[in-house]
Amino acid sequence: MTELIDRVREAVDILDVIGEYVQLKRVGKSYRGLCPFHVEKTPSFYVDPAKGVYHCFGCGASGNVFTFLMEIEGITFREALQRLAKRAGIDIKEERRERPELRLLKETAEFYHRQLYKPDGEKALYYLRERKIPESIISLFNIGYAPPAGTVSYLKNKGFDHSLIIKTGILTDTGKGFRELLRDRLIFPITDEFGRVVGFGGRSLDSSVEPKYINSPESEFFKKGKILYGFYQGKKEIRDKKSVIIVEGYFDVLAMHLVGIKNVCAPMGTALTEDQTQILGKYAEKVYLLFDGDEAGKRAAMRSVKVAMSKGVFPYVALLPRGEDPASLYQKGKSDVVIDTLRNAKNFADFYLAEASSIEEKVRLTKELLEEIEKIDDPVLKNTYIEVLSSVSGIKELQLRNVLAMFEKKFLKKKSEGFSLEMRLVITSLFDNEIREFLSENIDPQDLDDEDAKSILQEFREGKSSEEILTLHPKRKEIIEYAMKYIDLNERVKKDIKSRIKELKFYKERKKIFTKIFEKTEEKDEIEAYLSHIMDLKKKQFRGD
Ligand SMILES: [Zn+2]
Repeated sequence: MTELIDRVREAVDILDVIGEYVQLKRVGKSYRGLCPFHVEKTPSFYVDPAKGVYHCFGCGASGNVFTFLMEIEGITFREALQRLAKRAGIDIKEERRERPELRLLKETAEFYHRQLYKPDGEKALYYLRERKIPESIISLFNIGYAPPAGTVSYLKNKGFDHSLIIKTGILTDTGKGFRELLRDRLIFPITDEFGRVVGFGGRSLDSSVEPKYINSPESEFFKKGKILYGFYQGKKEIRDKKSVIIVEGYFDVLAMHLVGIKNVCAPMGTALTEDQTQILGKYAEKVYLLFDGDEAGKRAAMRSVKVAMSKGVFPYVALLPRGEDPASLYQKGKSDVVIDTLRNAKNFADFYLAEASSIEEKVRLTKELLEEIEKIDDPVLKNTYIEVLSSVSGIKELQLRNVLAMFEKKFLKKKSEGFSLEMRLVITSLFDNEIREFLSENIDPQDLDDEDAKSILQEFREGKSSEEILTLHPKRKEIIEYAMKYIDLNERVKKDIKSRIKELKFYKERKKIFTKIFEKTEEKDEIEAYLSHIMDLKKKQFRGD
């Protein structure tokens, strides 16, 4: 893959690609034009064809030919790669020749689907009709039927060898010999995010046959933690709506499609995994967890909320009446309950804190949420989370930021490599006058713990320019590397950097107060101690003592 990316990068001319969007004029070794990412009258957008990068000195947009296309067209990395490969005449299909295992799985899915309309498959078809699943959905999801026998001989006739049939889990070793794993079951082919069949789910058609559901065994292609049922079929809607609804099972996905809600999929287990959320995050900003309102459903929702937050997808929770799911409600003709439940979805904090029955629990759950908020890199999203948590918990945003600063401090103690938060803010200020002024106004060099950050801020105060400081700085290379990699200053980001500086200021100012509080509570977790302290104060104010 890396090889392919390099080949494509070398084969396309960044000037050609960017030139389609921006009129570029040569200036020295670089080319200059009006930035396509912000409105400007004098050109500050530069392309360096030798390095294969672009940079805008106005808004800070920078990157390579892939990021340019991704940003300007709003497409994924893979899509950008495909377009550029096509442009360069590199055949991606040839690069990633379909593996025989995937061909076998695809062939098997087609075979199962055809069996649905054979005499053996009649009961499966009858079952689908009973659950009110129309032909259009059967065909969209390629639902099938695995006959009691015959799948293996069909595949062998098609030229697939025995070992491959075992490897893909179609045949399984029972200890007493090999058997077809999914015989006499209704089949849901499971595809990855690109629509390739990677495994199967099989539902028994006879209530006496246990277990009710069997999945293909885990393999190199079929990793349950990385697959979302129905994602491929809902992908377009998920991308258009920038939101996704998570349901629990195969039939729930179908039921949602049947009421016209297509931005939906199901994890291959009870709760969302990090890998699954990572996939969702490429297409969606919000995730709605539409689960059964029983205890198991609530637990799954709590786990999923945290995973979604940590991956930067804003979670909402919508719990159905106990014991119900979208499929059961659809069958009863009560899909309006599903739609109402979704309409009344609670944000993560509302849902989470409603579960607290005591102040201790509220402290614990608030801390859990803050732990997830701390992991988020996107400052805009982080602020949104803080605002939401503040309004739900009644704890002031400032106080929540204090707690986050405490987490950050803990984290920095552990982490020795890379730049500290203080240094990252100072580096950013090297590249932007506005940020630099803001930083100098708000932070006193003496308050900084990071020696590098302290000395740079001191030099600013002495009137040195960024160039002077940078040119002579012993860590110049690392600083520029960091800036090239991470600093992307548009108005939105600037605003958030300022709020980070304010956070730092508040933290420094309150450090002394914290120290006093913590002296009394040495044994206790200091963050929990601080949160209880805030909540206690609130209670007292409320009671008026
Ligand atoms: Zn720009």
